[in-house]
Amino acid sequence: MASLDGFPGEALFNQGFCYTYDDVIFHPGFIDFAADQVDLSTRVSRNVSIRTPMVSSPMDTVTESDMAIAMAEAGGMGFLHYNMAMESQLEHAKIVKSHRPGYVANPAVLRPSATLRDLDELRAARGFSSVCISESGTCGSALLGLVTTRDAELVRDRNTLLSEVMTSVDDLVLGSTEKSAQENEQILLESKRGKLPIVDAKRYLIGLLTRATIKDRLNRPPSGVPSIDKHGRLLCGAAIGTRDADRVRAKYLADAGVDAIILDSSQGDSIYQLEMIKYLKNELPHVDVIAGNVVTQNQARRLLEVGADGLRVGMGSGSICTTQEVCAVGRGQATAVYKVGQIAKEFNVPIIADGGIQNSGHIVKALALGASVAMCGSMFSGTTEAPGQYFYQDGVRVKKYRGMGSLDAMKKGSDSRYLSESGHLKIAQGVSGTVRDKGSVKTMIPYLVHGVKQGFQDLGADSLTKAHQILASGTMTMEARTGAAQREGGIHDMHSYTKVPW
Ligand code: NAD
Ligand code: IMP
Repeated sequence: MASLDGFPGEALFNQGFCYTYDDVIFHPGFIDFAADQVDLSTRVSRNVSIRTPMVSSPMDTVTESDMAIAMAEAGGMGFLHYNMAMESQLEHAKIVKSHRPGYVANPAVLRPSATLRDLDELRAARGFSSVCISESGTCGSALLGLVTTRDAELVRDRNTLLSEVMTSVDDLVLGSTEKSAQENEQILLESKRGKLPIVDAKRYLIGLLTRATIKDRLNRPPSGVPSIDKHGRLLCGAAIGTRDADRVRAKYLADAGVDAIILDSSQGDSIYQLEMIKYLKNELPHVDVIAGNVVTQNQARRLLEVGADGLRVGMGSGSICTTQEVCAVGRGQATAVYKVGQIAKEFNVPIIADGGIQNSGHIVKALALGASVAMCGSMFSGTTEAPGQYFYQDGVRVKKYRGMGSLDAMKKGSDSRYLSESGHLKIAQGVSGTVRDKGSVKTMIPYLVHGVKQGFQDLGADSLTKAHQILASGTMTMEARTGAAQREGGIHDMHSYTKVPW
């Protein structure tokens, strides 16, 4: 009898243990293609497709409009958190949906009646050098002029109106939405100016191109194909809760063009989610609804049967999570992804592996075990595009990163979700802390993608579809690693080393 050389998923995940990513290791497959040929195209939910299988988590230290724009530009997608007023979340959604790839994300715009003092305050908060002046003080209205550092810095009276110091629109070199991003770049370079406002046929301000944006792009590895909807706008997701007020929020988010809505909960198998899914599928059938979180097949089946277009998988696996400690429920993330993936396949609905992703290897594991997309909080926190300011802690440049169930996040807005029946006790299910400055996600993602492609090449899978096929057929074999095997699989026996990921 031939000796058993590894287990298919069905055998490994049916032994009475739950495993997390680090517990599991795949066996290599046969390579007959280059890593660059691996096709990672995938679906986030039933009707939303992307080419880079990564999405950013709806957390208030991870995804607002800057992150959602960067994720979609890199071929993934961002989900706006909802620990903010509905109006603010809508504003972020509108910024993403109106953003043109290749231009400055959310450029600074003020009205002509604003003063230099207003400009100073905006500059201090957002750190830019120039501001466009439009009729309404936002993109999408008539461009009137531009104020640069040179126009403003030596004017003593900070009550001076911007209309008095701006360079009028008639004297500006302008780019046009009718030209390609490359053509507009050429206009900017030939003009030898620093900024190029982009306008439409009515001379309404649509975006801004700067020399810094061009330099930034040239200094980064090439990113993927942007994720766009059928109107050519960037894809954008958003989270909501399951209270009555969230029905109104969902309606406005859908009107703002949001492509998929996440029902954000640690435990999605509830009457609240079932009713919300039915309501949303009835009222807003054109928007995909992603339910969860779930970690078992029973939880998943109930949500899929009422029409969930996607599932978010993971309970207690997040880097900031104390749920398993506080509530004694959850599941090892590799097992959760594999088990839920098996049911979701029956409904032809993709699943999102959410939480616990620390490196490209974890993304390979999540995808190879049946997920269509990896959702990251920690990994994308601390980047330039994450909300919040950098500060120094023990000499290290850091940003805040916190769980949405931490006391810190609850104080900001999600209180009502955590109050006990009596309305007074708050129990945290997450922590608040800091993470190192990681630079821009726009630089990080191309490297992650390449790491994932190399992993797929080693598995012998030239696409995500192929990986799911060999998982289902049992051709993909794997094993659990002992503690010693995990130590061996990491760096060991070094006197000193520096770990430079890319
Ligand atoms: P939640 O809003 O689902 O639940 C909070 C409380 O409100 C629960 O007791 C719930 O049963 C109740 N509730 C929800 N809808 C209701 C309704 N219509 N009527 C009455 N009660 C209702 O949020 P959560 O599960 O506490 O999670 C909060 C945040 O923390 C989310 O962002 C979530 O992603 C995150 N979180 C995630 C995990 C995880 O492991 N993935 C764990 C903890 C927290
Ligand atoms: P990470 O990528 O490991 O940092 O995990 C991020 C995920 O953790 C999120 O997408 C949520 O599912 C989950 N999460 C967010 N906030 C909390 C919390 O307060 N407690 C537990 N889990 C959380």
